[in-house]
Amino acid sequence: MSAEIIDGKLISQQVKDELKEKTLKLKEEGIEITLAVILVGEDPGSKVYVRNKKKACEYIGYRSLSYELPEETTQEELLDLVRELNDREDVDGILVQMPLPAHIDEKAVINAISPFKDVDGFHPENVGALCIGEKGFVSCTPAGIIQLLKRSCDGKIDISGKECVIVGRSNIVGKPMSLLMLRENATVTVAHSKTKNLKEVCKRADILIAAIGKAGMITKDYVKEGAIVIDVGINRNADGKLCGDVAFDEVKEIAGAITPVPGGVGPMTIAMLMNNCYEAGVMRRNKQAI
Ligand code: NDP
Repeated sequence: MSAEIIDGKLISQQVKDELKEKTLKLKEEGIEITLAVILVGEDPGSKVYVRNKKKACEYIGYRSLSYELPEETTQEELLDLVRELNDREDVDGILVQMPLPAHIDEKAVINAISPFKDVDGFHPENVGALCIGEKGFVSCTPAGIIQLLKRSCDGKIDISGKECVIVGRSNIVGKPMSLLMLRENATVTVAHSKTKNLKEVCKRADILIAAIGKAGMITKDYVKEGAIVIDVGINRNADGKLCGDVAFDEVKEIAGAITPVPGGVGPMTIAMLMNNCYEAGVMRRNKQAI
């Protein structure tokens, strides 16, 4: 039996439409949410991401402020801009598009963003909050995966008590993903490049999440029959075509449900960024934790 295909485009559209409606209500109260987006340099991939984020703001009804800075911008100049945006009453969220040019220390920039405006969820204060189960901004890709799981398969996926294996332990995907799945009461294993017997470890999973960055690495030999397979990877195959970490065509024959690439996890990342902007705006005005 072929797996149910989890439609990330559809679910991200639902999230954005819900936000659009809530944003309209805020506007009626005279509140406008503003996201400041900073791009340093000319990286074509980053330019596409920034353009898509601005488009999403426009769709939902947020104001977006755009700062496109030259490659040679110094770290101090960038930090000055971040501090200025931290202090501005009319700015709710600040996003600095990564990667930054090599002469700028990404950590220093992330740490400079006010945790209350850190809509990417990368600031150590927000990461720490997630770790100890407090409220805070959560990294958008893992937060989007939780929404995918909760909103697909007619809401029938029950995460609680399930064996979840996450392959990848990066700060932006694997680690926060493991904490979110733990919060949802899954039994979580985090695998990585040093994991022994990876196939056997993955085969234990009721929910398998691949965040590796290796095209088609997860073949059907890694997947238990009926498992839910979430593919975070964004890679190019030998023909230059976009593909995930999962060998989709063969895995879909044995999985219970699976996300495609493109059209799975990817669209959720921007939707959750928009959700974090909304939370930032509401939280700042109510002066209470989200
Ligand atoms: P990183 O390169 O930071 O992390 C990759 C992880 O995979 C590491 O923990 C690494 O282990 C592990 N890994 C690498 N090779 C193997 C292997 N052979 N066996 C087991 N584990 C392995 O990547 P990211 O987490 O940033 O991204 C992962 C993928 O997801 C990329 O393709 C990226 O483009 C994509 N991505 C997609 C997003 C979306 O919106 N859909 C958002 C963010 C990322 P170790 O730690 O031991 O080195």
